[in-house]
Amino acid sequence: MECPFCRPARGQLLYENDLIRILLDAYPANRGHLLVVPRRHVERWEELTWEEKLALIWSMELAMEVLRETLKPDAFNVGMNLGREAGQTVPHLHLHVIPRWKGDSRNPRGGVRKAVLDLEDENLSLKERWVKNRLEESKVEALREAFSKRGSRSP
Ligand SMILES: [Zn+2]
Repeated sequence: MECPFCRPARGQLLYENDLIRILLDAYPANRGHLLVVPRRHVERWEELTWEEKLALIWSMELAMEVLRETLKPDAFNVGMNLGREAGQTVPHLHLHVIPRWKGDSRNPRGGVRKAVLDLEDENLSLKERWVKNRLEESKVEALREAFSKRGSRSP
């Protein structure tokens, strides 16, 4: 199957430079739902160069700026589905920029956190959800240890 982000439909392409493209989402979750994609066909975040990663962030800001100017949203959801189990359907990495308006959803609370909620989970109390999803102390300790080995330097 041809990759829809390598050869976006003419009407979908809003912006491009040497590293990234900004596209209209073909199945928008809300008015003005945009996608930021690297030009290079890359499936996984780890395959991006640092230049491409920075270009993605820069373009996320550009997309929000232009949306603010034109559609005047009140807020945004921004996110990536990295891997099939997280809901990624097109194997070309993409970042969603979804403008939000007051009242466009009855219960916006939680935003992208709802990505893992089934209807069943939605009905759990906060306490029940905490019990279901909390990490064992040994895993928290393992995380702490893994982070502490990385030092405190940014790239
Ligand atoms: Zn592609």
